[in-house]
Amino acid sequence: MNDKLAQALNDQMNFEFYSAHVYLAMAAYCSDESLDGFANFFIIQAEEERFHAMKIYKFLNDRNRRATLTALGEPKNEYDSMLDAFEHGYAHEQQNTKRFYDLADLALNEREHATMYFLKWFIDEQVEEEALFDGIIQKLKRIEKDSNAFYMLDAEFASRTFVAPAE
Ligand code: MG
Repeated sequence: MNDKLAQALNDQMNFEFYSAHVYLAMAAYCSDESLDGFANFFIIQAEEERFHAMKIYKFLNDRNRRATLTALGEPKNEYDSMLDAFEHGYAHEQQNTKRFYDLADLALNEREHATMYFLKWFIDEQVEEEALFDGIIQKLKRIEKDSNAFYMLDAEFASRTFVAPAE
C-alpha cells in the first residue's frame, strides 16, 4: 500500500484508541452517578474500541507498515443525562462510519483490494454500532419518566461482557 493509505489507516487506529478514551470518560460519568450498569456498558464499549484499534495495528504490521501512536484528544467528561451521553455516542459512531467510508474510497482509488476487504469488517461493525446506540436512545426516550424502567435498563447493562469477535 502507498504512504497515504498507510497514514490514513494509522490515523484511524489512533481514532479507535481515542474512541476508547471517549467511552471510558462516559463510563466515569456513569460511575459518578452511581449507575454501575451503564458504566459497565461504556467500559465494554471502550474495550471494543481498543480491540478495533489493535485490529488495525496488526493489519499495518502484516502489511510491513509501522503503527505509530499519537497523543489522544481530551474526551468530553461531563454529560447532562444518560440520554445526552448516548446521543454523543451515536454522533461519534456516525462520524466514525464516515471515516471508514473515506478510507474505503481511498483504498478503492489505490486499487488496494486487501485493504478494502479488511475495511469491510469495520463497515459492517459500524452498522451494528449505530443500531446499538440508536436503539438505546429510543428506549431512553420512551422510559424518560419511568425510573423503574430506567433502573431495569441499568441492571440489564451490568451483564454486558466483552467477547472478541471471531476473525
Ligand atoms: Mg470502533
